[in-house]
This record gives sequence, C-alpha cells and structure tokens, in this order.
Amino acid sequence: MNTSIKFSHKGYRDLLKKIIKKRKAISFSKYKTFKSSFIIIRHDIEFFVSSAYELAKIEKSLGVKSTFFFLFNSNYNIFSEHNFKLINLIKKMGHDFGIHYDANFLNENKINFNKNLKLQISLFESFFKVKIKAISCHRPKIKFSKYNDKKIINVYDKKFQKRVKYFSDSQQVFRENVQKLIDSDKDLHLLVHDYTWSKGNQKWEKNIIKFSKMEYEKNQIYLKNITIDWQIGLKKRKKMDSVFKRKILS
Ligand SMILES: [Zn+2]
Repeated sequence: MNTSIKFSHKGYRDLLKKIIKKRKAISFSKYKTFKSSFIIIRHDIEFFVSSAYELAKIEKSLGVKSTFFFLFNSNYNIFSEHNFKLINLIKKMGHDFGIHYDANFLNENKINFNKNLKLQISLFESFFKVKIKAISCHRPKIKFSKYNDKKIINVYDKKFQKRVKYFSDSQQVFRENVQKLIDSDKDLHLLVHDYTWSKGNQKWEKNIIKFSKMEYEKNQIYLKNITIDWQIGLKKRKKMDSVFKRKILS
C-alpha cells in the first residue's frame, strides 16, 4: 500500500499539490472557523531542525501553512545560533509553532508536568516572539498527560483525531491508503516528520544517519570558528583584561 509515494522532497511537493487541490491547509487555531474542506499539517520535529526547514520551504512555495512542534529534550537545541536562525526563517514564511512535549521524560524525572509545560511554552514564546496555540505529546502511547490550560489546543483531542481523518508518515509507513484519503471528501490531519523526507527518496534509517552527519559537520565548523576566535583572544588577552578591568571592575 502507498508504495507509489516517493519520500523525496519532490515526492512531498507532489503529495501536497494533490492534497491542496480540494482542501485548504489551515492551522489548528483556525479549525473552528473552517467547517469543511481543509487539512491541518503538523510537524513533530524529532531530530533535525534543518530538515524541518526544508519542508517549510516546500510548503511555502505552494502557499501551504503548517505547524512545527519542537521538542525541548531531544538531541537538538532550538536556541543554538543556527537553529534559532532557521526557526525564525520558518516563522517568516508564515508557519505556526507548537510544543512537542515529552510527558514520559517529565514523569520519570519527577518534574511537575503542568508547571514545566507552561514554562516551555513561555520560553518558546519569549525567544521567538510568537504565540503558542497548540501542543503535541511525544510518543503518546508510552505516556500521555493532559495539560491543564484548556486554551491551548491538544492535537490528540478527539476533534483532531476522529472528526477529521488523522494520518501520519511515521517511519515512511502510512496506515491508510493515502490516495483514497486524498480523493475522499474528508477533512484531514497529517503528521509529517523531519526524518522521513530527503532529497533523494532514501529510507528513513539512512536519512537519520545522513542528517546527523550533516549536523556533525555543521557543528565542527561552528566549533572551529569559535576556536579561532579564542586563539585570537588569547593573543590579545593582556590588552582585553585591562580594558575589562577599566570598564567593568573599576
Ligand atoms: Zn515525537
């Protein structure tokens, strides 16, 4: 089933083109104002902000708006210089943001769930100057907790799972026949991951290895530049120490 879907960037573009022929792509917060003929596209970013950025660009080129949910305790740092820049570029494209929260992590580490999620939301809002309207639980089958602020939309609410047809590209396997869904009159909720789609239609396991190598290389360059800066600083240390003393310590 669905073997016709190519998990390449072109494949993603083609899929979106088909979907939006008879539906408008809307954000979670617009759900109430749209009675029918819509799709909500959601991205739970598990590992790679750079890959999320690639998906955002494809969507932007087709006039599609989606919501990117970022996970605080994954292998990536949304506040690193590089990722911070990319997330701001995604914002500029007009996409929405949400928090991808790990209820199991919070529970296992005895961190107050509601308090912490509130902090995660306000931290993201403060750094990126956006309003978080929705949250999505990471690995909800392991541990699912409901946030007590009812103003924040939970993507696992029945209305986003049953009243609209939910389907996901997890590990490049759709549970549904995607073509049938596209051809139907159903309103849709599609979860698209960062590790699923690549330039060359590779298997998701390969994507993870390749994307992590790319992150490693970027990190090497970043650290190399810092090392050079520090080496220069070391040579000027005496001078800089005296300036610092004069300006700050006196
Ligand atoms: Zn997740």
